[in-house]
Amino acid sequence: MNVPLSSPEKKISEVIEACADCEQCRHMMASECLFFDALYRLHDQAKDNGRALSTDDLRDLVDLCNYCALCSCPDIRASIIEAKTRFVERDGLTLGPRLLEDVARMGKLCGLFPQLANRMLANGRTGRLLKRVAGIHEDRRLPILPGTSFDTWARRQGLMQKPAPGAANKVAYFAGCSGRYLFPEVPQALVHVFQHCGIQVYVPDQQCCGMPTLLEGDRKKTLAFMAANVERLAALVAEGFTIVCSCPTCGFVLKELLKERAYYADAYQKKIGAEAGFLKVPVEGRTENGKGPSFNHIRKSIYGKILKDNGYFAAIDPLKRIAVAENTLDAGEYLWRHLQREGLRVAYKALKERLVYFAPCHQREQNIGRPYLELLQMYRGAMVDIVDDTYDCCGMGGIMGYKREFHEHSIRLGTPVMEKIAARRPDKIVTECLSCRLQFRHLADYPVAHPLEVMAGLLNLTA
Ligand code: SF4
Ligand code: SF4
Repeated sequence: MNVPLSSPEKKISEVIEACADCEQCRHMMASECLFFDALYRLHDQAKDNGRALSTDDLRDLVDLCNYCALCSCPDIRASIIEAKTRFVERDGLTLGPRLLEDVARMGKLCGLFPQLANRMLANGRTGRLLKRVAGIHEDRRLPILPGTSFDTWARRQGLMQKPAPGAANKVAYFAGCSGRYLFPEVPQALVHVFQHCGIQVYVPDQQCCGMPTLLEGDRKKTLAFMAANVERLAALVAEGFTIVCSCPTCGFVLKELLKERAYYADAYQKKIGAEAGFLKVPVEGRTENGKGPSFNHIRKSIYGKILKDNGYFAAIDPLKRIAVAENTLDAGEYLWRHLQREGLRVAYKALKERLVYFAPCHQREQNIGRPYLELLQMYRGAMVDIVDDTYDCCGMGGIMGYKREFHEHSIRLGTPVMEKIAARRPDKIVTECLSCRLQFRHLADYPVAHPLEVMAGLLNLTA
């Protein structure tokens, strides 16, 4: 196929070539990742038949990546998303993804008349029609819309007023669209637990973290969401706030994706006083004599051409991206550190249920250990088992699991994880990811809760 250099076909063909040469994911990921399964199958077929892959083959291939981030190479997954984005920029986005990708807009719209929306979705005929229009698979179970959104509740509680300047232990809470519009009981639980532990919670104005739109290849919307978030959150960091996320996907986007390649930016190199001819890049998790980050010194003459701030979020100020990324913590991570620092215990009651904690993909990718497991194990009598093997993925992939074309794949990915959980015979599944919650509720009848909801329940607090 003769294709322009900037075409999506070219981009995804580069991924196929690189992964066919490397082969590491052929066996390691073939049963856990639909993308690699298809990549190697297509590559082998093309080689055997001596024919080039068609645009349809390549387009279908990129649609199989749900950005779970379980594979080894961040650059490869960034290239898959780049190829998908180029397909969308050239060929457009169909109506279903356009409706589903903007979770906040859908949430706000349905939240205007939640009872009516719930009745319509529960009704066989209108429910099927609405699902068909939105491109949702007819078997997919949908959550029941809450009567009041988290934003409305937070406003009534005065959480949208900033704490006094100089206040200690203050966090800016990035609650995420699913929590704000579908499961407000989760961000409410965070507020209860944090306030009980002496942490001041401020809920700033916020947009979607951008993962659903990024996954759909909608670069314009993703960058607009992220630019607005970075502007606001960087200003809060400058005022001394730590940003916390209860959704692991929002956390992964703000902590990891946002800063990808930002350290190579001229503005950052100037700020940290890199020597002429060298790039100074902080080493993740390492400090210099306990004072500040430890740096790798990389020769520009060898790597300068490839190590540039030219990734997905390059259009946004790199210093602000770094400030946000370095000052965002997962809520469990923040809470665990806070309790350790203050010498507090939050566990007053016995935990009587048998829990299985599932560590979601985007939590595992943050390399922060298992803070919620530590927190839950503080409770008297705690029986908390864990499912977190390297390649375990619930298969929901945010909004992808809703989509007609991805539904069967999603079930295929999630079923082995559900079987592992069920084998432990829990009273309740605990996971902080609301996509996992939707998938587990679809696959079995176990109750599913965020760890903060379990903790809030044991604090005996009410809304
Ligand atoms: S994703 Fe990375 S490790 Fe896996 S096959 Fe491709 S190049 Fe190799
Ligand atoms: S991000 Fe996840 S779905 Fe995408 S290629 Fe990597 S392992 Fe597969």
